[in-house]
Amino acid sequence: MLRPLPMANPLWAPWRIEYILSPKDRSRGCVFCGVAEASADELRARHVVCVTESAFVVLNRYPFASGHLLVVPHAHVDAVEALDDTAYDALFRLLRESVVRVKRAFKPEGLNVGLNLGAVAGAGIAEHAHAHVVPRWSGDTNFMPVLADVRVVPQALDATLDHLAPHFADVPGRVRGPAACP
Ligand SMILES: [Zn+2]
Repeated sequence: MLRPLPMANPLWAPWRIEYILSPKDRSRGCVFCGVAEASADELRARHVVCVTESAFVVLNRYPFASGHLLVVPHAHVDAVEALDDTAYDALFRLLRESVVRVKRAFKPEGLNVGLNLGAVAGAGIAEHAHAHVVPRWSGDTNFMPVLADVRVVPQALDATLDHLAPHFADVPGRVRGPAACP
């Protein structure tokens, strides 16, 4: 008799928590849109680390680890192939810059970098494609997914923003950053 094979237990399953914790109230519009026009104070309030002409870096509100970043094109598209070449290149250049800066700022032992494309693949905000950069340390496996109702205190995100933003000050093509800590 055929039996389904047991599924391997992935060491890191970001798709589970991203979808579970994603905002379900969409009445206020896309959380990733409007950053290109936002003031420095608004960028700070939204925990945006760095803005370039075509993309931006923002702290994940529900991080797996301190310094979990999202790299997001300004264009509201649900697929990377929907980006034009300029926006696509800008997204992945900023992704590379983000990896460099996360390594400098947090000295992780490793990183996860990736995209969850489509709700079935775990994207919490599937309609606006974005990439994840997650610093990793040995022993941190799955510490957030077991706490599905955890809410990260805003102060922790503010402190992370203050630590990280200066590392992004010299990103090529940077046009704006968050207001400094008041
Ligand atoms: Zn959007």
